[in-house]
Amino acid sequence: MNLILFGPPAAGKGTQAKRLVETRGLIQLSTGDMLRAAIASGSDLGRMVEGIMSRGDLVTDEIVIGLIEEQLPRADAAGGAIFDGFPRTLAQARALDAMLARRGGAIDLVIRLKVDEAALKARVAGRFAESGRADDNPEAFAQRLVAYNRDTAPLLPYYADQGKLVDVDGMADVLGVSGEIDFALGGPAPADADT
Ligand code: AMP
Repeated sequence: MNLILFGPPAAGKGTQAKRLVETRGLIQLSTGDMLRAAIASGSDLGRMVEGIMSRGDLVTDEIVIGLIEEQLPRADAAGGAIFDGFPRTLAQARALDAMLARRGGAIDLVIRLKVDEAALKARVAGRFAESGRADDNPEAFAQRLVAYNRDTAPLLPYYADQGKLVDVDGMADVLGVSGEIDFALGGPAPADADT
């Protein structure tokens, strides 16, 4: 099963992806995590993307498509992946469909964490200091929202037209969101069913 967790920055995609990894045995593929790891390692890629990321802009499609492609054998072995923060542009979405199709797979469901932008800004405002992320500050966060609305939100009709889009209330608490995601997936994972 291949899932996309979709939504603006700080909507809770990473938190929910990690829970799905535990309950469903899938792997999480977060291009943001991969890029932060590249920066931390001091690699050429890390040096190339550091400034772009700290401003809250998107790195090129080519870079992130390449990062995802490298990981797809691991996703095959796990029985699928949760894509977190990817795709973020139409070109990325098309590339992902093509890469999965070549491997005999497809995206099964796109779970959109729906959040109110004003409430989201209020929710994250208090957390900037403690996050430790270079792009968690008011200016970069504002730019990340601009990039989401300009480049990423247009993917919603792309997936809606394929009948794959499910909306979840991302303003609920973590457990509430998890419950709605489980519902969208047809019920709790078997190992999780009695909790
Ligand atoms: P995230 O952790 O998903 O919020 O990503 C943090 C930052 O990494 C973003 O603001 C972008 O600069 C970059 N990034 C992560 N994923 C992508 C992507 N799919 N396309 C372009 N840039 C990305």
